[in-house]
Amino acid sequence: MTTPVRDLPLLLLGAGSDPLSERGVDCPGDLPPASDPALVERARAAKAALGDRVFVLGHHYQRDEVIQFADVTGDSFKLAQQAAARPDAPYIVFCGVHFMAESADILTAPHQRVVLPDLAAGCSMADMATFDQVEECWDALEEAGIAGDVVPVTYMNSSADIKGFVGRRGGVVCTSSNAKRALDWAYAQGSKVLFLPDQHLGRNTAVLEMGFALDDCVVYNPHRPNGGLTDERLRDARMILWQGHCSVHGRFSKASVDDVRERVPGVTVLVHPECRHEVVTAADMVGSTEYIIKALDAAPAGSSWAIGTELNLVKRLAGAHPDKNVMFLDKAVCFCSTMNRIDLPHLVWALEELVAGRVPNPVEVDADTARHARAALEQMLALP
Ligand code: SF4
Repeated sequence: MTTPVRDLPLLLLGAGSDPLSERGVDCPGDLPPASDPALVERARAAKAALGDRVFVLGHHYQRDEVIQFADVTGDSFKLAQQAAARPDAPYIVFCGVHFMAESADILTAPHQRVVLPDLAAGCSMADMATFDQVEECWDALEEAGIAGDVVPVTYMNSSADIKGFVGRRGGVVCTSSNAKRALDWAYAQGSKVLFLPDQHLGRNTAVLEMGFALDDCVVYNPHRPNGGLTDERLRDARMILWQGHCSVHGRFSKASVDDVRERVPGVTVLVHPECRHEVVTAADMVGSTEYIIKALDAAPAGSSWAIGTELNLVKRLAGAHPDKNVMFLDKAVCFCSTMNRIDLPHLVWALEELVAGRVPNPVEVDADTARHARAALEQMLALP
């Protein structure tokens, strides 16, 4: 297991070094300048030189300039599965963020190396739950006398350490597509769930899909003693939500939904379940990234859609559906800044390093953490 980090002071992207958290470090390499007109050619040439030895994965939130070189695109779980399905490729270049590359490393064979073109591509949500904070929370549950009733469930968007913690305690990983199935399974094992690290996905699933009352949920704040909760409140709760959120999806508000409805008559508002509860309840539809893509594919020509998810994906969907009126839910620009760190210069650099026989920015999870994290991931794959 990697050494846990207790405090997470603000770290500017790409500044400083914090290899023990999801926050990354400066790229150590000699990056080609972004102005190099030959970047596309260089990427093509490096990929061609590597042939089947490299498999490039591209998350839906990646930039177009990068996604054009992906052998497969998808959400974090689909990409980890795809990586595992290519044991013949010694190099997996993961165009996404750090926790995704960790999951790919956990699920791929030992001889495969997972490369993250920029180690500063972390995830602010994953950073909101560190290993020792979660251990402290578990101690609080033990003190309250309820740890034996609690099944931990972690969203895919968490570090390998947290997945390992969950695996050690017989819990499960979930994605935004299978959160209800994971929770159904968890509540068959115990009467309470500790849901990490995204409070919104946990609350939205419990309340909207499982019929829980908002009062059945409490929010555990890792920065306050006992999570800011009394033992009695912990004992009464059915769902203990970690106080974490996505800084991208957290920006959408009920006001953005009201505003787009006023501006665009007949618009369908479709949002990701990482959005706040009041946004999800004000929307017409809610679903994972893959769900959003399928909903747009199935939409009739001429229909209007306001989408509440990351902007790179919304722009790509708008381009792919010129017969539909696809717009971003908010007026403000809302890229995932860490996803955006993987740009064409970083991809070219990573591919050219591989051509030169060097493995740049390898992401490796230690064997013990990987074993327990794999158990929690495999439990997800075995969900009924
Ligand atoms: S969109 Fe949100 S959850 Fe996804 S990588 Fe960015 S900060 Fe993390």
